[in-house]
Amino acid sequence: MLESSKKLGYTEGIVSIIVNTLLFGIKIWVGLAASSVAMTADAWHTLSDTLTSLVVILGFWISSRPKDEEHPFGHGRAEVIASVVIATLLAVVGVSFFKNSVHELIVRQNANFTTLSLVVFAVSAVIKEGLARFSLWAGKKTKSQSLIADGWHHRSDCRQVCVVD
Ligand SMILES: [Zn+2]
Repeated sequence: MLESSKKLGYTEGIVSIIVNTLLFGIKIWVGLAASSVAMTADAWHTLSDTLTSLVVILGFWISSRPKDEEHPFGHGRAEVIASVVIATLLAVVGVSFFKNSVHELIVRQNANFTTLSLVVFAVSAVIKEGLARFSLWAGKKTKSQSLIADGWHHRSDCRQVCVVD
């Protein structure tokens, strides 16, 4: 693996983790203050997003290790496995999002959205879209499936947030 690809993969993972952790902090704080179930649930989802980025970092770390006796062709497949893990997590998110939407349609919850929580959702959507663009760009540049998968996850998070409000 190219040194520049490795750096880009690590950068995407680390930036995603920092941003999602910050977003988690803001959302959990606002969610609890406004006793908004939707915001609190989204906060925990955002924290779980750091996991997929950890998988990206792990995938890059393992696949960039040099060949050894047990792995004469290198560790490149780790990156493929990482992308499968991320895609699976994304599918789980998709299913739970679908369930929530149906639930919301049936129950027609009138969540008490404060102006502050709307602002947080909006800012979060913009940031997630930014992360998505960065990950997809980095994925194309490094031809990394796991970065592209993480990018689609970020974008789906943006949609989710956009639909929530
Ligand atoms: Zn997510």
